[in-house]
Amino acid sequence: MQNDTPKPHQTPDALSHFKPSLATGELNHPAGTLVDKYGRRITYVRLSITDRCDFRCSYCMAEEMTFLPRHQVMSLEECWRVAAVFVGLGVNKLRITGGEPLVRKEAMWLIERLGALPGLEQLVMTTNGSQLTRFAAPLKAAGVKRLNISLDTLKPDRFRAITRIGDLGKVITGIAAAQAAGFRRTKLNVVAMRGVNDDEFVDLVQFAVDRALDISFIEEMPLGEIHGRNNTYISSAETRDILSARFELLPSSELSGGPARYWRIPGNESRIGFISPHSHNFCDTCNRVRITAQGELYPCLGQNDAINLLPVLREFPHDDAPLRQAIIESMGIKPFGHDFTQQMEAPQVVRFMSMTGG
Ligand code: SAM
Ligand code: SF4
Repeated sequence: MQNDTPKPHQTPDALSHFKPSLATGELNHPAGTLVDKYGRRITYVRLSITDRCDFRCSYCMAEEMTFLPRHQVMSLEECWRVAAVFVGLGVNKLRITGGEPLVRKEAMWLIERLGALPGLEQLVMTTNGSQLTRFAAPLKAAGVKRLNISLDTLKPDRFRAITRIGDLGKVITGIAAAQAAGFRRTKLNVVAMRGVNDDEFVDLVQFAVDRALDISFIEEMPLGEIHGRNNTYISSAETRDILSARFELLPSSELSGGPARYWRIPGNESRIGFISPHSHNFCDTCNRVRITAQGELYPCLGQNDAINLLPVLREFPHDDAPLRQAIIESMGIKPFGHDFTQQMEAPQVVRFMSMTGG
């Protein structure tokens, strides 16, 4: 499934080559935990295990994508070390993502080990669902607690147009396989796009409600050089108005540990979430960092600053202390927040979402 076509790779412009210092740093935090300079405790890591994907969603990737050569991607053992060190620093939730995590060869090797990691309370995954017929049961057996599955449309032709190469049928059977494997509170992720899928918001919620799935609508973010976003941006408030014409929506105080704000339909199990990076900035309660497949630690999805853990991993293959120190020191560069505006045309972050991991 891995695409080996060599193409020039787009690299983040503000990447620092991190050399660990042995100083304890200026951050004042309780030993064994990660606290940033604004006092936010980091307990949640999103780990991308590949930049590759079997889809090319138009809002996420360019049509002709540039993938990393293998030696620039963390090995599964390196992914494991990074995760284990974070858990040792008090992280209790880990989301495996990508690219499409399930196209990474031997991904189950890593996931089985993570599932057995003491202290990791929630191992979860974001997937496009295309491989779930095969992997849902092993993921469940490995201890993955919940899945987020991306689904922007229920129309096969439209699905093909949005993903450029995807097959809706595989995703629908993948969702069924997840439910048959015993996954509960599976969440559908819908990127809300005006003129693309706004006529299906009601049908997508009905699809979720009929299957006791949760569903979240995501405002499109300006990540990577993709044209036409100004035309498709639609706010969560407008999405909610569209849904309110059909469903009675009651605000819920539930939080899932992520950025979504939830609503419920009375008498129904499904939660309807809205992830609103533009219209409702959620940075003040941010509890997470992201690790790319090439080992860059991005303290903020919406900023370009990063620390490169790969040289540390490779320079000290048998000693986790420098890696631990690098992670602790990264807290010093976590910004207060992103500054996405509704000016969508110029990318505010040069890397694609598939690079950082959603
Ligand atoms: N391949 C997996 C998938 O699609 O679920 C995991 C990685 S994908 C990058 C994670 C999430 O990011 C998906 O739900 C996708 O819809 C979302 N996403 C990608 N690009 C986005 C963008 N520009 N704005 C908002 N969400 C985006
Ligand atoms: Fe692949 Fe997910 Fe990006 Fe779509 S959103 S191209 S499935 S990584």
